[in-house]
Amino acid sequence: MLKPIKKPVVKREYTFLERIYLWEIVKGLKLTWKHFTFNVRASFRPGPHTVPTCWQYPEDRRPIAPIFRGAHYLALDEKGRELCIGCGMCARACPAHCIKVKRGKPPEGQEEKYAGKTICESFEIDMLRCIVCGFCEEACAKGALYLGPDYELAEYEKGPCIYDKERLLANFRKARAEGKLKPKRKPVPVAAPEKKPVGKKAVSPEGKASGSQKEK
Ligand code: SF4
Ligand code: SF4
Repeated sequence: MLKPIKKPVVKREYTFLERIYLWEIVKGLKLTWKHFTFNVRASFRPGPHTVPTCWQYPEDRRPIAPIFRGAHYLALDEKGRELCIGCGMCARACPAHCIKVKRGKPPEGQEEKYAGKTICESFEIDMLRCIVCGFCEEACAKGALYLGPDYELAEYEKGPCIYDKERLLANFRKARAEGKLKPKRKPVPVAAPEKKPVGKKAVSPEGKASGSQKEK
């Protein structure tokens, strides 16, 4: 059985003012008054408070960082076309396995608009499982999926927490109307495969022939 550790008791002499308590109470009230007057003055400042103790949410909101990760949206291009081609790379990158993508063809009459490209027939993100890591955003080479600025994600039921394609597009339109779209990501450069000379021996930078030929 463990023995209880005995803490050394530090005895100190209290001053006369400490012993009568009155001065300590005055000191405490002085500090309270200082904070009270500061907060009253802060609450009369116009606009969002600069150094408030409380933010009057939802009226006052802190500005969010440009890299903030909130509710997802699926982007459209300048012509109103969906950028997502349904490749499923985002679903593969998702560590929470909460994305389901089904590739499909553009709706009838819109084949020309998409110039033969595929689109996602259905797109689902289960926000109850999402850990908001942003891997899906990074994995998308088309710059079609973003984690937007909306952070009010609470719902009363589970159903609306599954974001379908319509919801993701609506999130995009909302962010665009509020001027809160994320800056477009540059496409990820993909290294071209190295071309090997055909019919000739590959020559190393030192000028030696490489391959299965044995050195004599
Ligand atoms: S943010 Fe992370 S967990 Fe959420 S859908 Fe994207 S990859 Fe999955
Ligand atoms: S969002 Fe991007 S990565 Fe995901 S399916 Fe669409 S194009 Fe592919």
